[in-house]
Amino acid sequence: MGINTDLLHKHQLHAPLFGDYKPVAKAHISPIYQTSTYILDDFDSAVYLNQHVDKGFVYSRFGSPNCDELEKKIASLEHAEAGLALASGLGAISTAVMSVIKSGDHVVFGDVIYGCTYTLFTHILTHMGVEYTRVDTTKVEEVEKAIKPNTTLVYVETPANPTLKISDIQAIADCVHSHKGITLIVDSTFASPYLQNPIDLGADMVVHSATKYLNGHGTVTAGVIAGPKERIDKCRMPYLQCFGAVLDPFAAWLLMQGMKTLGIRMERHCSNAMKIAQWLEKHPKIEHVYYPGLPSHPTYEIAKKQMHNGFGGMMSADIKGGEDAVRTVMNNVKVFSLATSLGNVDSLIQHSPSMSHFDMTPEERHAASIFDGQVRLSIGIEDVEDLIADLDQALALI
Ligand SMILES: *Cc1c(COP(=O)(O)O)cnc(C)c1O
Repeated sequence: MGINTDLLHKHQLHAPLFGDYKPVAKAHISPIYQTSTYILDDFDSAVYLNQHVDKGFVYSRFGSPNCDELEKKIASLEHAEAGLALASGLGAISTAVMSVIKSGDHVVFGDVIYGCTYTLFTHILTHMGVEYTRVDTTKVEEVEKAIKPNTTLVYVETPANPTLKISDIQAIADCVHSHKGITLIVDSTFASPYLQNPIDLGADMVVHSATKYLNGHGTVTAGVIAGPKERIDKCRMPYLQCFGAVLDPFAAWLLMQGMKTLGIRMERHCSNAMKIAQWLEKHPKIEHVYYPGLPSHPTYEIAKKQMHNGFGGMMSADIKGGEDAVRTVMNNVKVFSLATSLGNVDSLIQHSPSMSHFDMTPEERHAASIFDGQVRLSIGIEDVEDLIADLDQALALI
């Protein structure tokens, strides 16, 4: 049966309409390639590209120009050979983790890590025959002690959510690599590449929730992985392709815009946070402040050695009076927004025990210094005096 070309034209079903179209406008900002698929030149290149998806664009789950641009930027910022863009921080974490573990393996990770990462290790991977040991990763000797013959992954989050504990990446990398076949993955979300570069310190892969500082404006959910090309290629194929945590072109484009101001945003986050931490530490209604830039922080010395340009915009504080006091403060702040997430230009406040870390048992939380009266502050880039005045008036209502 012949093809009725009239009908095809009428319904605009013929694909190659724009196949030969070459953009002539030299856009300063990259265009958004809002397309799911790409026209391939001929049969032979279609065969080749389908088998070598890193050599060109075939289908947006395999890669897109906007993600490609973002991946090159992340690799450069993290001093890594290659980068990979994903649909969320957890997409990046689960993809990176799955690329290095198999049934029967053992994983070592920190006692204070992001809530859903903890759930991934304790509630999902355990069903697949992966066992784990939680340790205080700020003590490298505890990491060493936990390593077993079947350990294949050591996973470290630093600074750690929400108590801002700092683990010594270089010391852990030396320990991990004195054993054979163990990968070190570092979640560096709280630092951003502006304050810390785990690959330089010996990590095998670094992951970020790009939803946070990399985007900076709270407009996308995204994640990235950076590392050696061979490892990133494996994360892309088959793991990202088969699990499908693909970042869409528009989100990748938004991230590229956000990252242009990463440096100046981080400088302001750091200077605002330092002033607020010092102020809170002296406040009579505050029991304790957790900020790695304060000499009172237990891992201040590691932070000073490992982080550059500042200590970040994140802190937690124990308010005297427990959960009732927290309720008063959170219900009465006006400049801070009551919201989870972090790393935005706008300041946010959350209650870690009931929000990001509700999945831990109270015993596990208390052992990790996540107390019932604890708030986590993501300090934005507003005028610092406005932020201090806001906290002051809310604390006065307790
Ligand atoms: C937010 C966050 C994640 C998860 O990232 P999503 O983009 O929300 O998936 C992982 N690790 C840390 C440290 C985070 O703050």
